[in-house]
This record gives sequence, C-alpha cells and structure tokens, in this order.
Amino acid sequence: MSARLIDGKALSQSIKETLKGEAAKFESAYGRKVGLAVIKVGANPASEVYVRNKIKSCEEVGVKSFSYNLPEETEESALIELIDALNGDGNVDGILVQLPLPKGLNEKKILARISPEKDADGFHAVNAGGLLLGLPCTKPCTPAGIIELIKSTGTEIAGKNAVVIGRSNIVGKPAAILLLSENATVTICHSKTVDLASIAKNADILVAAVGIKEFVTGDMIKEGAVVIDVGMNRCDGKLYGDVNFAEACEKAAYITPVPGGVGPMTVTMLIKNAIESAFRCKKS
Ligand code: NAP
Repeated sequence: MSARLIDGKALSQSIKETLKGEAAKFESAYGRKVGLAVIKVGANPASEVYVRNKIKSCEEVGVKSFSYNLPEETEESALIELIDALNGDGNVDGILVQLPLPKGLNEKKILARISPEKDADGFHAVNAGGLLLGLPCTKPCTPAGIIELIKSTGTEIAGKNAVVIGRSNIVGKPAAILLLSENATVTICHSKTVDLASIAKNADILVAAVGIKEFVTGDMIKEGAVVIDVGMNRCDGKLYGDVNFAEACEKAAYITPVPGGVGPMTVTMLIKNAIESAFRCKKS
C-alpha cells in the first residue's frame, strides 16, 4: 500500500478561511478585533519560529495579536503581573505563554495564572478537567488538530482501535481523551509499556507523540492504518517525525507528513480557540 498524505497545510488553510469569517463577524458585532496575547520569554530559536507563525496566522485571519517579548532574566513576579493585566484587559480574548520557559520560571504556576476563559492553549486545569468530563472547554490545540486531520480522511473514528504513543499533558493524554470522546477504543502507550510494537500494530488509528526521531517503524503499523505523526525532532538542521515516513507509507492508508501535517493545524486551532473564547465571553 502507498499511503495518501494528509495535508495539514491545506486543511489548516481551509479552516482559516472559515475563521476569517468568524473573526469578521466578531468585529462587526463588537466593534473590535478578537485579540490574542502572545508572550515569549527569552530567545529559544524554536520558540521564535513558533511565535512568528502564530502571529502571522493571526494576521491572515484578522485577529489582533499583542506580542510580548520578555528578556531571559524576567522575574516570575513580572510575568505574573503581565498575565494578571492581560486577564483583565477587555481587548484580549486569548493569552498564550510560549513554552518552554527559561529555567527559574515555574511553568505550572504561570500557566495556572492565565484565566481559564482566556487560556488559548487549553492547558489550564479547569480546561483539562472540562475535557475529561466532557464539559464545554478550550481544547488543547495539537490534539484538537489531530482529530480534524483524522476526520479529514473521511475515516469513521467510532469503534476503531486508536493507539496513542505518549502521555504528555499537552499532547498524548488529551489526544487520547478526544479520541475516546469520538468513541474510539483507546490505548495509551508510554516509556514503561511492554511490547509496544504489538499494541501499535493493532491500531486502526496510530498517533505518535514520543519525541524520538523515527521511533515508529513500518513493522509496527497495521496495513491500512491512519498514522498521525506529531513528532518534531530536529537533527542536522532537518525536521524528522516520530514515524519512519518511508516505511510507514508502505503500510498506512493515510499519513501526516513532517513538516506540513500536525504543525500547521496546531497553530490554526490556537486561533480558533481565541475566536471561540471571544464569542463565549460576550455571551456569558
Ligand atoms: P513529552 O512531554 O516529552 O512526552 C513524550 C512521551 O513519549 C512521554 O509520555 C513518554 O513516556 C513517551 N516516551 C518517551 N520515550 C518512549 C519510549 N521509548 N517508548 C514509549 N514511549 C516513550 O513530549 P510531547 O510534548 O508530548 O511531544 C511529543 C513530540 O511531539 C515531540 O517531538 C514534540 O516536539 C512534538 N510536538 C509537536 C507539536 C506540533 O504542533 N507538531 C506540538 C507539541 C509537541 P513517559 O511518560 O513514560 O516518560
């Protein structure tokens, strides 16, 4: 089998067209643009690229970005003060703090400070709890993007065996919960999983969020599976996924490329979250 590519760039472009309409509706109803505050601390080169992409996507869709580039030596109290000010700012509907933060800043404490209503990344405990309980909440961007990518293939998720490799709070766990809420039968694998290869081999839908270059090899993939490669592993100036792409293409029915798969969808889901927060806030 030669897998068909799931084009995350094209899908995210088409979602952005819809979001443009939503952003324009908000502006005409409330006399201002949806606002997204993007906070970056320090000069991590990967973060610079991610933040640039997020701001560019805001511009494309008609969302106003408020960009804060803070120095590496920023005190935790100063960052918290900024978040408090943005929580109370009527022009800001979404706030994101680009991770990772420099050492010395308590990531958990800082993310918890963002008002759950403005938590554009969907990382706040209130939103994570809402996801678990099936309550209306802001969904984390990468897992939400994963679901859109799977649906774009026309694959019915309900009843399928879905295997998620990775259990991080930002990708693996929420991706598993979203798949469960779509009625898949879900297995989560992690570094202590015994015989991961045979579990993966049983997956109709395989999500790899491990952070190890080409961790998933062809022999771990079921014939005809949908493979979502979340990994972004930089090596010798090149970006590699968590899946051995060439081998996977021989087995899978559909696969996301790296780059151009999950990455663009993550950014688009962030903008979607900000717009939804803006409308939700006006309704409440
Ligand atoms: P993470 O926090 O490091 O989590 C990695 C997970 O993989 C952990 O649950 C870990 O298990 C598991 N794992 C590690 N080694 C393993 C092994 N040998 N066998 C089985 N499981 C193993 O990473 P993350 O934040 O979820 O990110 C995962 C990847 O996705 C990274 O490459 C990251 O750059 C990428 N990413 C991409 C996007 C995007 O937009 N495209 C967004 C976020 C992340 P334990 O829990 O047992 O340690």
